[in-house]
Amino acid sequence: MAKEKSAIFIIFGGSGDLAHRKLYPSLFRLYKSKVLKDHFAVIGTARRPWSDDYFRETVITSLEDYFDDDKEIMEEFAKHFFYQSHDVNDSEHYIALKNLAGKLDDQFEAGHNRVYYMAIAPRFFGTVAEHINSEGLKTKDGYNRLVIEKPFGRDLDSACELNGNISKAFPEDDIYRIDHYLGKEMVQDIPNIRANNPKLEQALNNKYVSNIQVTLAESIGVEDRGGYYETAGVLRDMIQNHVMQIIGAIASDDPKAKEAKVIHKNKCDLFASLKELSPEEVDTEFVRGQYDTDKTGEKKAYRQEDNVAEDSNIETFVAGKIEFNTDRWSGVPFYVRSGKRMPDKSSRIDIVLNDKVKELGIRPNSVVTLLIEKEDGNSILINGLNYKDAGQDFIEFPEEAEFDNASEAYESLIIDILSGNRVHFTLWDELRSTWKYIDTIRERWDSQTPEFPNYISGTMGPDAAEMLLERDGNSWIWD
Ligand code: NAD
Repeated sequence: MAKEKSAIFIIFGGSGDLAHRKLYPSLFRLYKSKVLKDHFAVIGTARRPWSDDYFRETVITSLEDYFDDDKEIMEEFAKHFFYQSHDVNDSEHYIALKNLAGKLDDQFEAGHNRVYYMAIAPRFFGTVAEHINSEGLKTKDGYNRLVIEKPFGRDLDSACELNGNISKAFPEDDIYRIDHYLGKEMVQDIPNIRANNPKLEQALNNKYVSNIQVTLAESIGVEDRGGYYETAGVLRDMIQNHVMQIIGAIASDDPKAKEAKVIHKNKCDLFASLKELSPEEVDTEFVRGQYDTDKTGEKKAYRQEDNVAEDSNIETFVAGKIEFNTDRWSGVPFYVRSGKRMPDKSSRIDIVLNDKVKELGIRPNSVVTLLIEKEDGNSILINGLNYKDAGQDFIEFPEEAEFDNASEAYESLIIDILSGNRVHFTLWDELRSTWKYIDTIRERWDSQTPEFPNYISGTMGPDAAEMLLERDGNSWIWD
């Protein structure tokens, strides 16, 4: 477990959903494990004029949804919380924040360290970062780290603009762009699993891999997030970021690398080698869908959801074939798929090996599955069986990587931020390449009118998603 850390957190958007559902519970876990103990304080900022006491009550209420600890320990924790009402455009408010942070730093001996956390609408990220810099909030003696939530732009142009704004205020090394899939234990363990399994690693290339499949499926619809979803769609919301980062973990070179700079360079090189699609190829290599009601007609179709246009063309399902122009991977299809209202929730990587793997002592045509959310106690499957029961000896699961089930993605990412470990955050260069790739698809789709809705809720998406693989003589492993 990490040793005690000291910092003043300034959470922009401290009254919001993300802060209450994810950040405060994660900070509380770190408090219970004593990573945060005496030398930290959290300043929540938002527009509303709340008192410290009221803010603390909201924090405790949100903890009660997740923990059954004594109220006393929650109250002790909440004593580290302070509230400052704040309008992102008002310079005076930043001066007040600076003074409060300085005072709390003295009180809690927080080592002049600052974590500026953007739990606020993306349109404010640039303004807030600029003001932090121009109003002199940054300390000289400690660190000043900026944490940015997704979405990082909505296309390459807007991502460039956003990056231009924040990088005027913060050097790249102090920017922590969150992709919470990179906080998930299995995704973090992939390099270990590869590094500890020479046979598997030897097989991970175009000589031995038939195809790799990444599925991030949800069974729920958009619920109460229709308004947000109308501005996003699965392509932006899941493929550009989470799916690409998972591919980065499984396909980039040198899984033994430990240094953030080397790991990032390998991932940047991989994404820079994404095989660009022509507009016509978008029609053949990518499939989009939008959910209709279910078989009984009880569930709402996407177009009937709250805050969704009756004629919305936003996709709730994507399947596609991605390829890379590298010596290692050229010719290997990476089939990706993400959607809402699929039969189950499942997040998985299926590595489909070919028959040549027998030269490596692996059973021909084996499928190695990495389950990103542990299911039924299983995390790695070989040919559908827990790897321990599968009768093949080429998977060793690193012991230190056993799931303890306690750590939430956000918790481990916050420890990384406090430790200055940038391995599990995304670099601007990675985003530039992935946005460029995604923009081609988006532009093509925006120029056409899809026939939506085109899949029934509770199914595997439109038929075209099956045909995408059948055409290559392949099929989805999770089906
Ligand atoms: P939210 O609407 O619940 O909260 C937004 C916060 O911003 C509130 O505290 C609000 O008071 C504050 N705010 C709004 N306008 C302001 C202004 N002019 N000046 C100062 N403060 C202002 O939103 P959320 O769901 O918590 O999302 C916050 C960010 O996190 C967004 O970028 C979102 O995309 C991202 N995100 C959220 C989730 C999630 O699960 N909620 C998941 C991933 C990413």
